[in-house]
Amino acid sequence: MPLYAGFDLGGTQLKYGLLDERLDVVFKSKAPTPPTMTGLLELFSKLWEELKKKERRTVKALGFGIPGIFSLKEQKIYQSPNYSDLDGFDLRPAIARFIKVPFWIDNDANIAAYGEYRCGAGKGVRHLLLLTLGTGVGSGIIIDGELLHGSCGFAAEMGHIVVNPDGERCNCGSHGCLETEAAAGPIVRNYRGLTRSEESLTAEEVAKRAKKGDTAAQKSFERAGYYLGIGLGIAINLLNPEMILIGGGVMDSGDLILPHALAEAGRRSYKASFSCCSIERASLGNDAGLMGAAALARDQLARKRG
Ligand SMILES: [Zn+2]
Repeated sequence: MPLYAGFDLGGTQLKYGLLDERLDVVFKSKAPTPPTMTGLLELFSKLWEELKKKERRTVKALGFGIPGIFSLKEQKIYQSPNYSDLDGFDLRPAIARFIKVPFWIDNDANIAAYGEYRCGAGKGVRHLLLLTLGTGVGSGIIIDGELLHGSCGFAAEMGHIVVNPDGERCNCGSHGCLETEAAAGPIVRNYRGLTRSEESLTAEEVAKRAKKGDTAAQKSFERAGYYLGIGLGIAINLLNPEMILIGGGVMDSGDLILPHALAEAGRRSYKASFSCCSIERASLGNDAGLMGAAALARDQLARKRG
């Protein structure tokens, strides 16, 4: 049975692995993300040589999940918020120099959504949205069993839909995006605002306090949940998804945020559409990317061969 390799590049770690034809994980590992493009290409090359020798079976194709705005037409990263060396870099030819089997590159959040669709909580769900709430808000959309790319590859940026027109300025240039209202940072910001303190703490710490009964901490999550719900309502009205999966570090405290988000989403979307959408937790955690990358490679290769 042939194998498929998946790579998932993050700001601090590169996760990678091998999956078989049934998409069971045969091997997985991770390495620190090199700070430069040269270092990254060297690492890809070295890991690829290792992966090829790992099993007696042939690795037929690869998938890469890369953070940033990836142009499908030009096969280039236009802008990578946490990895500026990738900006404008011509990734495909650079990788093709040492990888001689077919490979596919896509945005990391799209790839993670594909992983949940093929291997995780969204297995077989043909209209699916994945949202990851962490330092930022990532998203990928599956429509009728296919990743939604839009005309140039930039679709599914749910993190940058505006849920609060008067909200804080976002890295994307807009204001009050889902990312500036419902990620880990905003939860901390809400807490500081409510307690009028400049205390340095993390969203996990705010969650701990909320669970102990700290009302300001609970309200910080409630506020983030309110904006998350507005975002979910927009997605439901726009896409009529069968399922929305929510993952990422903030979901470790899902009980603090989800009930508020669900209530708000219910108020802001068509009842018919809301009631046929189940909103659940993503199941693959940090493996969604590498699994999705390998799954995409398997499916694209099958399609290519007709
Ligand atoms: Zn934004």
